[in-house]
Amino acid sequence: LLTWFAKLLFATGVLQATALFFGIFFIYPLIRTQAREEGKLREMTASLSARSETLEHAALTDALTGMQNRRFFDDALREYLQEFRKIDKPVGLMVLDLDHFKAINDTHGHDVGDQVLKAVAGCLKDMTRYHDVVARLGGEEFAVVAPNMDEPLLMKLAERIRKAIAGLAVGAGNVRLRVTTSVGLAVWDGKETAEEFFRRADKHLYQAKRLGRNRVCA
Ligand code: GH3
Ligand code: MG
Ligand code: MG
Repeated sequence: LLTWFAKLLFATGVLQATALFFGIFFIYPLIRTQAREEGKLREMTASLSARSETLEHAALTDALTGMQNRRFFDDALREYLQEFRKIDKPVGLMVLDLDHFKAINDTHGHDVGDQVLKAVAGCLKDMTRYHDVVARLGGEEFAVVAPNMDEPLLMKLAERIRKAIAGLAVGAGNVRLRVTTSVGLAVWDGKETAEEFFRRADKHLYQAKRLGRNRVCA
């Protein structure tokens, strides 16, 4: 019985040693390479999604001011109208265009013009609320979508913004530059498409220009 037991013990030992051998020299390296490859793949997907996030961010952001761009604005306006169709709350829209901006470029150069645009962008960001959409539509044109604002409130905000921009003094060399802005307002009638709504605010902007600039029209 004893020798039979010893044989059994020996056989188990051999089996265990073989298993250990395979484990160490075949299975373990296999698992390691697989884990390494998986890690690499994970890393690649992470960097790819980070890259696409950066690209998406770049596609929706204005490079000069860091504001949202026209593309973002168009989508956001459409989405806000879709949401506000269901609830009985106003949506305000403000379209701004700097006055005689070409003269600033022509007199002081394009770089100074860019500084003015950045200052205006900062001012707009400061004067609006978190859920307002503030965008540079292109050139020296900006827009604000202000949800939950009826016409009197929107008018008050627009006047405050107009005054704040007129009060900016942008440093350029040893001169302090002044810039004014014309503003067109509209409150959504609940039926217009985003394009029609925008066109109405834009019409009021041109009225403000015609009436002499540095003013708000609704
Ligand atoms: P108005 O009061 O009628 O709006 O006159 P304006 O001179 O502002 O209008 P206009 O459309 O004639 O000129 C806009 C100028 O904005 C022309 C262009 O040189 C300038 N501009 C557009 N984009 C940029 C930019 O990114 N940087 C700078 N510095 N200037 C720009
Ligand atoms: Mg313009
Ligand atoms: Mg202009």
